Amino acid sequence: MLLAGLLAGCAHLGTPPGWDAVVLETASLADPLAWRGGDGLPDRNVVLAGQLVVHADFPLAGQHRLIRDLETLRTDVSQTLSLPVSDEPVHLYLFGEPRRYDEFAARRFPNFPVRRAFFVETDTTLSVFAPWQDRIAEDLRHETTHGYVHAVVPTIPLWLDEGIAEYFELPRGDQGVHREHVAHLTGRLLEGTWQIDLARLETLTSPGEMSQDHYAEAWCWVHWMLHSTPERRRLLQDYLTDLRRDGATAPLAARLTHVEGSPLVCAAAVRRHLETLAGDQRVAGGAPAAASP
Ligand SMILES: [Zn+2]
Repeated sequence: MLLAGLLAGCAHLGTPPGWDAVVLETASLADPLAWRGGDGLPDRNVVLAGQLVVHADFPLAGQHRLIRDLETLRTDVSQTLSLPVSDEPVHLYLFGEPRRYDEFAARRFPNFPVRRAFFVETDTTLSVFAPWQDRIAEDLRHETTHGYVHAVVPTIPLWLDEGIAEYFELPRGDQGVHREHVAHLTGRLLEGTWQIDLARLETLTSPGEMSQDHYAEAWCWVHWMLHSTPERRRLLQDYLTDLRRDGATAPLAARLTHVEGSPLVCAAAVRRHLETLAGDQRVAGGAPAAASP
């Protein structure tokens, strides 16, 4: 059987009224060689860029802005998460025509839902597949982040894998602030039918279980840990370091409870962080400030 099972999944917010279904995916294959051998894969041009091996079926310069951006991303991921860089190649297969990508994905991964791009991990290879389209930069940043992280932390939990990829898919200047996720989570909290809950995220093991809420919340936890206090940033970094050594190490929720006091205190702090980000967005968006007394 070709598909051994999904490791992680990705979703992106779409434009109203709905959101894209699962559009990006991480998967594991039983047979790492299954897609090799001229199986419709791009092979016309190969560009080496640090850890990346970029295969494209169209002319692509090694100095293309997008390729340079992905090389910089490697350093960003490593430094932000305090992880070593790896020399393990991450293969990027770029299709010039979406139709060819669709045909390849339908042929080789018939059980996958339609998605814009996806990451596949096997015992021996890390690969990203993507068509060249309007959101290629964002998609490649997301999927390549999976590649960089899996190269050094192969046992990362699903929720954290996606939270980190959502964080790094944004352009560098955004400081990891995912405006769509901020708006979504703020709306969910206003509805009063949803609560921040890391322990719930940690129970997720299949990408099919992950909803828009989960992706947004996963991003929010990562952003809070990286941007609230140096201690929390260090806690996340230490957790990832421990995961490298032992995939069964104590989960993050338990570690945070030990430091912060209780899950409720922790969730309240994340909520305040989110509300601060939402307030910043309203100011940046030109919303009227609160009236002075
Ligand atoms: Zn993903």
